[in-house]
Amino acid sequence: PSRDEVTYFGAGPALLPTSVLEKAAQALVNYNNTGLGLAEHSHRSEIANTIINEAKADLAAFLDIPDDYDILFMSAGGTGQFSSTAYNLVGTWVANRRRRIFGTPREEGDGKPAEMQQLHDAVENDLKMDYIITGSWSAKAAAEAARLYGQDHVNVAADARLVNNGKFGIIPDESTWKLSEDAALVYYCANETVDGVEFQDFPQRLLPKPNGQGPIVVADMSSNILSRKIPVKNFSVIFFGAQKNLGPAGITVVIIKKNLIAPVSEQPSAAMMRHLGLAIPPIILQYDSIAKNNSLYNTLSIFDVYIAGQVLKKLLDTYPDKVSGQEAVAKQKADLIYGALDAHPDVYRVVPDKSVRSRMNICFRVTKGGDSETAEKDFFAQAAARGLTGLKGHRSVGGARASNYNSISLEGAQKLAQFITDFAKAP
Ligand code: PLP
Repeated sequence: PSRDEVTYFGAGPALLPTSVLEKAAQALVNYNNTGLGLAEHSHRSEIANTIINEAKADLAAFLDIPDDYDILFMSAGGTGQFSSTAYNLVGTWVANRRRRIFGTPREEGDGKPAEMQQLHDAVENDLKMDYIITGSWSAKAAAEAARLYGQDHVNVAADARLVNNGKFGIIPDESTWKLSEDAALVYYCANETVDGVEFQDFPQRLLPKPNGQGPIVVADMSSNILSRKIPVKNFSVIFFGAQKNLGPAGITVVIIKKNLIAPVSEQPSAAMMRHLGLAIPPIILQYDSIAKNNSLYNTLSIFDVYIAGQVLKKLLDTYPDKVSGQEAVAKQKADLIYGALDAHPDVYRVVPDKSVRSRMNICFRVTKGGDSETAEKDFFAQAAARGLTGLKGHRSVGGARASNYNSISLEGAQKLAQFITDFAKAP
């Protein structure tokens, strides 16, 4: 089939706008009549820097990112950020404690034995990373932090499974979250791609206090970035792999509050971290090294940044009120699909609780006839015959999942809603 005949609802990598791909295909062969394709140009060239700077500016414009935040392009995906966020923010935590205990910053190794002992004790007793676990991706992030630093330093502040019969599908009430005092970070996943659970708002418990001080909030927005307005100023780090709402797989974007990117001179050295018994971050995952080099510490795929940049330009052209415009469309599409599912409760069951339903990953079971395995097989086959593909749920949970990312058009969502209705009504 041609691209026009297929609407692909896969969870990622996801569809990209055809017009962007056509332009990118040309750029891959011969970029701006330079006689070289974009994947062949040096990442040290002015071309590369311009592409990076434009993509940063357009992302900042679309999401309304304040000036005291930096935007980094990194490798290693969302998974790389599970490690990176822990490494960097533990480093910042240790640097802050060292300053508090040693007094004014002094040269490395200058701490007296008693001070070093105090720092050692602080790490042992007080270093905590808080995780709110609402699905398989936040669970993975917490597991990575525990792998790097030991379970003792990971505080599972909430786990949906503990209050929902062992299953995901809800967000535990904020009043029950067991947050640590002075945590190195508080982590949550804004949209759980596998489980279809989305935070509808910024968590009240994590709001900054009136004096501006607040917890170090880290959010994984891999699967809902660019689809809703976000109060960036409440976050310390927002990260997302590009491959759902922004561009092809291969680049990961980090939006980070600049005052968290401690210069190397203020970070605990590898020797000190070793002395404290803490993991040492690989340089490629260190925000400081990436930020200082405008994301060009090492060879970056400029071609991927280019495609992401073109998607952003298209979004800016399409929506005069920027991400709010896209948010309205995302809601309209999700309402259509959920509406069709809810209209036939004898045939479909939406998996997560109504209050936390994701607009991006719509997870449901097809229960027609009682045997969902047979019904789902049938559902996928008939959907494919109408050009609606990629609807299988994640292999770990089964069922059906319609990923309703930005590049699914309103018409695509309408087609799916129609199919959901027709399938339910068929004898
Ligand atoms: N976080 C979320 C919410 C995801 O959906 C995914 C992948 O689907 C990841 C993290 C992992 O991303 P990556 O495959 O880029 O490592």
